Amino acid sequence: MPSLRHLVLVLGDQLDAQSAAFDGFDPAHDAVWMAEVKHEGAKVWSTKPRLAMFLAAMRHFRDALRARGWPVDYRALGGAGGETFTAQLHDALRRLRPQALVLVEAGEWSVARAIEEVARATGLPLEVRPDRHFLCPREEFRRHAASRKQLRMEFFYREMRARTGILMAHGEPVGGQWNFDADNRESFGRDGPGLRVPPRRFAPDAVTRGALADVERHFAGHPGSLADFDWPVDAAQAREALEDFIAHRLADFGRYQDAMWTHEPWLYHSRLSAAMNLKLLDPRTVLAAAEQAWRDGAAPLPAVEGFIRQILGWREFVRGVYWHHMPGYLERNALGAAQPLPAFYWTGETEMACLRDALGQTLRHGYAHHIQRLMVTGLFALLYGVDPRRVHEWYLAVYVDAVEWVELPNTLGMSQYGDGGVMASKPYVASGKYIQRMSNYCAGCRFDPAQGTGPRACPFTTLYWDFLLRHEPLLRRNPRMAMQVRNLARLSAADRAAIRRQAEQQRARLS
Ligand code: FAD
Ligand code: SF4
Repeated sequence: MPSLRHLVLVLGDQLDAQSAAFDGFDPAHDAVWMAEVKHEGAKVWSTKPRLAMFLAAMRHFRDALRARGWPVDYRALGGAGGETFTAQLHDALRRLRPQALVLVEAGEWSVARAIEEVARATGLPLEVRPDRHFLCPREEFRRHAASRKQLRMEFFYREMRARTGILMAHGEPVGGQWNFDADNRESFGRDGPGLRVPPRRFAPDAVTRGALADVERHFAGHPGSLADFDWPVDAAQAREALEDFIAHRLADFGRYQDAMWTHEPWLYHSRLSAAMNLKLLDPRTVLAAAEQAWRDGAAPLPAVEGFIRQILGWREFVRGVYWHHMPGYLERNALGAAQPLPAFYWTGETEMACLRDALGQTLRHGYAHHIQRLMVTGLFALLYGVDPRRVHEWYLAVYVDAVEWVELPNTLGMSQYGDGGVMASKPYVASGKYIQRMSNYCAGCRFDPAQGTGPRACPFTTLYWDFLLRHEPLLRRNPRMAMQVRNLARLSAADRAAIRRQAEQQRARLS
């Protein structure tokens, strides 16, 4: 048998039929390689929804390539070849004996290094092609970063708007401003979110059911449930999910972007992150659909701009930050936080109603929206003082959209301030009163967000003051924390001592 010309490696988050990996692909001479690797699901203790998302989407992609008549060497879980990524790859190279390897830039630093290492060890040429999925190539972000002292998403986003022409007219932002945050971010008020069209569900087909069964078999002890698995797992479903969001939720996206409500996991969010991160859906398609909705008068500009900012701004920005600062970024711990992650993060069993709801839906669906991640689960870990590396491992394990290039800067940087200010200009800290304002959680909770000490003290409120006390010298140097530091100065010595005592008791109870 003549040996293969190219073995094209397709990773679990590279399921893009238009990928540069396939440029010049000739099924007579080339083959695709994909592998389900048990160790990838275990190196962080991945939830069942996350594992199922990857397996189901990979299997659908494999079938789509085979339907084109392309040879795909696919190793399913439990097959021969070993349980780690490098063992599987070495095994494939022994069997298939390609002349060269082709890969699109891997999304994770350590995976990119592992593949380079295999190529070196086997003496095979490795051609790494750019990832066209993103609108800002890594090289361009490097140039952007080199030209400024400090990285800020807002300036990056304006450059991206100008460069792409999205929501622009004659070189100016449409509507005369870049940012409509002042019109956005309302809470629901007493009546709650009201009746909405529920998001489009995708009942598992035979391929997905096979993936779900394999997750139950090979990852039986992992957290989370598959009972409600309904994510889009191929390009056609991802497109339908996008259309559903544009038609039914985009118009109110901005307004209720930060609002939370008990037993309402989706609200006005798009649920598109996993489809985009696995590359089932091109962000340009999403951005164009949102902009068109505004041009057609189907959604107001503040909602559309707010949504576009998340994808053209934040999503591209965090990828740039990740590649700019890896591998050292993973080790950062600017606040010297060292507590272990409380065990209830893996079960959702806690008296704190806000955490119970956010963790419950996380384990049930592999999903929580941004403010639940930032201002409930992330905020508690920050105030409690959890080691950011442990927080990162949890976030990477639990969400269906979790891939390291986007998860790590959001977790270690934006949410835990572990990078000391690269992602956020100040720590995102607040007391339980923020959660009370943005949700109905506190109404169903045994704690009182207004109290920082005493039997009904809200742990968020106690730990908020304790956080300010523990980090007072550092926070004093940050002008954006001036108001919070001024409020801290109003506490008497007795108040400070009471807060510290209560925080110690809470830590002792949870540890
Ligand atoms: P929507 O609210 O509908 O937003 C639309 C899209 O904008 C999302 O699909 C996403 O692609 C993009 N987006 C929004 N916010 C961000 C952001 N901060 N960074 C990058 N893209 C953004 N997002 C992930 O995709 N994977 C992760 O592993 C991840 N981990 C996070 C961890 C923490 C601690 C925090 C605070 C945020 C994290 N995010 C992550 C960002 C954000 O929470 C999710 O993208 C969003 O909740 C996904 O739900 P959605 O598709 O309904 O998003
Ligand atoms: Fe969460 Fe505190 Fe409100 Fe309870 S009172 S829901 S713990 S913020």
